[in-house]
Amino acid sequence: MTDTYDAIVVGGGPSGATAADDLARAGHKVLLLDRAGRIKPCGGAVPPRLLKDFDVPLDMLCARASSARMIAPSHKAVDMPVGDGFVGMVDRDVFDEWLRVRAAGHGATRIDGTFEALERDPDGTAVIAYRAKGEARGSERTRVRAKVVIGCDGGNSAVARAALPANEKVPFVSAYHEVIESPADGVNGFEAGRCDVYYQGNLSPDFYAWIFPHGDKTSVGVGSAVKGFPLRDAVARLREQVGMTDCPTVRVEGAPIPLKPRKRWDNGRDVVVAGDAAGVVAPASGEGIYYAMTAGRLAAEAAGEFLTTGNPVALKSARKRFMKTHGRVFMVLGIMQWFWYRSDNMRERFVKLCRDPDIQQLTWESYMNKELVRKRPMAHVRVFVKDMGQLLGAITGQAPRTQ
Ligand SMILES: Cc1cc2nc3c(=O)[nH]c(=O)nc-3n(C[C@H](O)[C@H](O)[C@H](O)COP(=O)(O)OP(=O)(O)OC[C@H]3O[C@@H](n4cnc5c(N)ncnc54)[C@H](O)[C@@H]3O)c2cc1C
Repeated sequence: MTDTYDAIVVGGGPSGATAADDLARAGHKVLLLDRAGRIKPCGGAVPPRLLKDFDVPLDMLCARASSARMIAPSHKAVDMPVGDGFVGMVDRDVFDEWLRVRAAGHGATRIDGTFEALERDPDGTAVIAYRAKGEARGSERTRVRAKVVIGCDGGNSAVARAALPANEKVPFVSAYHEVIESPADGVNGFEAGRCDVYYQGNLSPDFYAWIFPHGDKTSVGVGSAVKGFPLRDAVARLREQVGMTDCPTVRVEGAPIPLKPRKRWDNGRDVVVAGDAAGVVAPASGEGIYYAMTAGRLAAEAAGEFLTTGNPVALKSARKRFMKTHGRVFMVLGIMQWFWYRSDNMRERFVKLCRDPDIQQLTWESYMNKELVRKRPMAHVRVFVKDMGQLLGAITGQAPRTQ
């Protein structure tokens, strides 16, 4: 055993790289341990607020979308122009590595290796046992000590399994996408500046399918929580439907998307989790990158307080602060997903509702700014009344007017 770190961050995705960067900038001795070697499967859509909050340069974006098209089971489409903003697209191999390099530039030590176990020294200090990249299985693990451990190792977090109550099951959707070479702009209706979102039960019985353009490449994917739902077949169907079957496939990959924040993020002693490991992906949209970075930052703040005071109660503040800001939005999106994504009839109504200018404006303002919009209270009232109209129509079986 050689090294002792103030903080060991396990996982170098957006959450872990942000946590490591913040702690290193604050002058702590930080180790960033990342398995490396696999590009995170991801549609890569990020809001402008992410660039601002985390000081990410515009040139990290490989593309910008200026509108989204929502497509109903009947194939009727509703275009939602973003207006005064955009949806940014990042390529995760480039973006994640840039974040890790930045953390290292501010003093974090980077190691490529896989976390395998959380052990304890005789004095109770946390010990991380990992296998460095390239080391054979069965060889002796490397061990390092940490005053605090931050688990940002994704939806299948080994740190959460090792340190948090075992009985908490985080609900998730399985997501799968194919990265293809983009068709030329305009071919078969493809638009390089538009995200297409398909609400069709044959593509996903409970979530949605997407086409997100990334410049010369495009992500075509689908998510579903239904066990055994054939995601690959659904993507093949979507590609056929939109005339993209012949576009060369660059990569195919899948991963779970957790859809509910864990009840506990810390072990009451010296471990805290963040990002997908803490379950913080927005229901209904599956947006996780911004929330992972926010949670990573809050976990770093909490760890910093713990390192200063020695009081493990400080670790609780990460979840508390996150839920205070985003808990209500997550709750509303969870209800939306449950309500609108349950049948083709409801999906049809949902897409129709998206024609509404108030709904479009509130959706984009909330997406881009990550705050419930308070500026226009009458728009909220109108949306509420229309929502109630839809709800009552769904209950009584009558289609209400949406505009
Ligand atoms: C198909 C798909 C599409 C998505 N599309 C979008 C989208 O368009 N926009 C959006 O905002 N979100 C999207 N998401 C969600 C988003 O990808 C995640 O919420 C986000 O990546 C979470 O970041 P994270 O840092 O918490 O975890 P991750 O990005 O999963 O990073 C975890 C890191 O931990 C490392 N790691 C894992 N295990 C170990 C271990 N044992 N030891 C060491 N390191 C380890 C991994 O190598 C990885 O670098 C999508 C997800 C999927 C699956």
